Amino acid sequence: MTSAQTSMTPGHGVRPTQNVRSAELATAAARLSRTGLDRRRLLTGAGAAAALAFTMNLPAAGTASAAELDARRIADDPFTLGVASGDPLPGSVLIWTRLAPRPYEPGGGLPADRVQVAWELAHDEGFRRVARRGSVTAHAEFAHSVRADVQGLDPGRAYYYRFRTGSWTSPTGRTRTAPAAGTRNSSLTLAAVSCQAYHDGYFTALRHLAAEDVDVVLHLGDYLYEYAVTATGGARAYTDRRLPAHYNRETLTLEDYRLRYGLYKSDPDLRAAHAAHPFVVTWDDHEAENNYAGDIPENDVTPEEFLLRRAAAYRAYWENQPLRTPQRPTGPDMRLYRRLTFGRLAQFDILDTRQYRSDQAYGDGWRTPGPESEDPARTITGAAQERWLTDGWRASDATWNVVPQQVTFAQRRDVPTAAYKFSMDAWDGYPASRQRVLAGAESAGVENLMVLTGDVHVAYAFDLKKDFDDPASRTVGTEIVTTSVSSGKDGAERPANWQNQTRANPHMKHYDGRRGYTVVTLTEKQARADFRTVPAVTTPGAPVSTAASFVTEAGNPGLTPA
Ligand code: FE
Ligand code: CA
Repeated sequence: MTSAQTSMTPGHGVRPTQNVRSAELATAAARLSRTGLDRRRLLTGAGAAAALAFTMNLPAAGTASAAELDARRIADDPFTLGVASGDPLPGSVLIWTRLAPRPYEPGGGLPADRVQVAWELAHDEGFRRVARRGSVTAHAEFAHSVRADVQGLDPGRAYYYRFRTGSWTSPTGRTRTAPAAGTRNSSLTLAAVSCQAYHDGYFTALRHLAAEDVDVVLHLGDYLYEYAVTATGGARAYTDRRLPAHYNRETLTLEDYRLRYGLYKSDPDLRAAHAAHPFVVTWDDHEAENNYAGDIPENDVTPEEFLLRRAAAYRAYWENQPLRTPQRPTGPDMRLYRRLTFGRLAQFDILDTRQYRSDQAYGDGWRTPGPESEDPARTITGAAQERWLTDGWRASDATWNVVPQQVTFAQRRDVPTAAYKFSMDAWDGYPASRQRVLAGAESAGVENLMVLTGDVHVAYAFDLKKDFDDPASRTVGTEIVTTSVSSGKDGAERPANWQNQTRANPHMKHYDGRRGYTVVTLTEKQARADFRTVPAVTTPGAPVSTAASFVTEAGNPGLTPA
């Protein structure tokens, strides 16, 4: 949702196509009741997992007795979705691909058989000095996704990797391990991206990102959108191809989400970005449904029914992202928040502000804050994740404590008058959560807090204030909000509300409404953010330029133009 620019109305009408498809899920839920499962048990961990596995026909890989496919019989290139790597550790990295000779077809164009896939990882692009090799089984139950957690690597080094099955070899990916724990590494360069609506335009920003010299890419959510994509690809307005009709409806079932990843992952610009850099991914709402909160959906369906959809969305997310086994979902539950360190320079505490949050106050949208939004019992992280975050800070010896997450953390008024409103979907709708997190950072002695954010389809830079209502109060950290890759179509440098928001928020140092990504370079002395911008996404091939750059000095938080 472009919550920077749009007011969201609560209780949106359910689209007709969705009614029909909701009925399909309702039937599935009813079938659960008939099998004697108490529907309430669906809401509890183990019961939910068992019930969903039954309802959605999702055996774990290895329990199925599928035959093995002779890979020599795969007649078309199965590596149409490219390769990816992710979550770099000092001695290991996760490499990924998924076999789909026909990615726009249910099943990806493969039978339900399992397939053996070999992988190798080398020091050089020509694969003359192979460091590790192995083989994994791709199961139909996981959409023939392939992942290998490659161990025993050198810290802080680049590697090249590829996969083979039958006569087919995948494109080559480049990745990089993290520096060894405790190392005083001199610098770390990361890129932040979010919000890539296929139907809103080309992923030109990702093509430029592929050519950047960065150590790691942080994807902050809205990797895909559940909305219908027309035969001509929406704003892409294809003239040379037609997308199948099953894309022209909202995603709801596991097959829908798998097909949607097939569409996105086959985009050449997205494939190029994944092949060039390791990604650390977290989701926001659209990987499942717009502005959901925990088990509360956007539209009028029951939590039980929504959890079936959430389980399908999380399952497809897991199948299609370079994530390790601890992130594998159990029914509608998936542990996505996790921690990565890059020597002594940076600790990343990657949050999930969707799965455990209280429902948006006042029916969501831009609202006047009040007792409902300010209720201290409300949470955007859930209690367990909040504890995990502050405990992690207490144990941290990193110079920079970076928090990659989803929705705007800083306070953000819409107008510079007393009649201001806040976005109830952002941390402004959960001010008690924000205060607890900031107090946790202070008591843990975090000196250099940097929050990295997506979601709003515009770029912002904020100073984080001890008291946002008092411009003279202490600056306790910074927030860099990366704009969308394509969501919101071409955008404008100064959106209609630019002047109002800039005046209303003295701690807002930058606001730009165009598409792009952000490069952040960390050293022991400073952090620098470069906001990269493309002028258009509804036509392919736009150039990239740097719209603005800011620095914040270590030990002295606060952004200044570079
Ligand atoms: Fe978005
Ligand atoms: Ca979002």
